[in-house]
Formats: sequence, structure tokens, C-alpha cells
Amino acid sequence: MPPTITLDAAASPEAKRHLDAMLRALQDALRKPPRWEAARDDVERAFLAYEAYIAHVVSRHPMSCRETCTACCHDNPRGVSGVELRRLQESILSRPGAGSTMMRFAQLATQRGDPSTWRARGVPCPLLKDGRCSAYVARPVACRAFFALTPPEWCSPGHERHGERLNPHLEPPAVLVQALRVLSDRLGLANADDLHSGMARLG
Ligand code: SF4
Ligand code: SF4
Repeated sequence: MPPTITLDAAASPEAKRHLDAMLRALQDALRKPPRWEAARDDVERAFLAYEAYIAHVVSRHPMSCRETCTACCHDNPRGVSGVELRRLQESILSRPGAGSTMMRFAQLATQRGDPSTWRARGVPCPLLKDGRCSAYVARPVACRAFFALTPPEWCSPGHERHGERLNPHLEPPAVLVQALRVLSDRLGLANADDLHSGMARLG
């Protein structure tokens, strides 16, 4: 196993400011009537704050991640809240090919097996198109956790130096995970163990 790396910028005052903004937006959503349509704007605001948090952390570390490198999109992201699944579903439904994308999630959900071996199986996420996430703005928090300090190609399980890779994992603070789950419960949006099974249920 590669070593666990702590990203010091994740505890900085600026990081805290972005995370607090996300929490406030989710708390605002919790005060609205329990309907997705009523909560949507606050949820978007929450994810904008999370994006700013990630940008801050990345700006302070020499990450080698590139827009078009995709090894981590051959994974099945774990722990996805109902709110995130709903956001992603809306993004998919707004574009051509939505039916086949949802069907592909349903197929993958029947092939789950051991989550730790998923990437080695080399099966791309149904949202990976032309080497990019086609739903980048709506991708769940779990997809935003992967980073690399070593060359991108080392992230591929087949690479000879895969065992030496340095992949910091940016876990979201527990209070935010909890807020996303509480909001999802309030809106009647079921949380999922992983992306494939969660999207399959919506399809
Ligand atoms: S974690 Fe690895 S595969 Fe994913 S974007 Fe970064 S370098 Fe690419
Ligand atoms: S949703 Fe997007 S970022 Fe997440 S695994 Fe799929 S393609 Fe990658």
C-alpha cells in the first residue's frame, strides 16, 4: 500500500473558510421546504464552496493530476449521498445519450464484487467521455478525493511503478458528509454505498 499523505493546506484558515461556507449553504437547504427544487440553489452554492476548497488545497501542493488523465475514473467511487446522486442525474438527463448512460450504470451495478479491485478491472465510469468527466461540475465529493503527487501514469494498476505512487486522498470533513446525508434523508433521496449502485437505482 502507498503511504498515507496529509495535505496540510486542508487545515489552513482559507480551507476552513470554504468548508464553513459549504456547511452554511447545506444548513440553509435544511431550513427550506423538504423538496429538491427548494434546496437545489443552496446545494449548488455548497458545491461551489467545495470546489473553491479543493482549488485552494491543490494550489498549495504540486499535484500531477491533468484534466485528461483518467485512471481514477476507472473506479467505483464509494459513499455517495442522495443529494449528489440527484445532482448527477439532472446533469445526465440534460444531455443526449442519457438513457444509455443510465443503462450502463445499471449493468455495472450487477458486477460489483470487491471494491478495492475495481480499478484493476479497467472498466471506465459511464460518464467518462473522450478522456474527460462529462459531468465534471456535478461529480460527487468522492470523485474529488483522488490526487497524485507522482506521474499520472503511475496511477494505472498496470504501470510498473504503481506500487510507488503517492496518492493523497482528500477526505471531506465528517460534519459535511453528515450534513449531505441528513439533507438527503430530509429530501427523501436515498444515499448509496457507491456510485454505480446509486445511479442504477435512479435509472
Ligand atoms: S489521481 Fe491519478 S489518475 Fe486521477 S487525475 Fe490524478 S494523476 Fe490522474
Ligand atoms: S463521475 Fe466523473 S469524475 Fe467521477 S468517476 Fe465518473 S467520470 Fe470520473
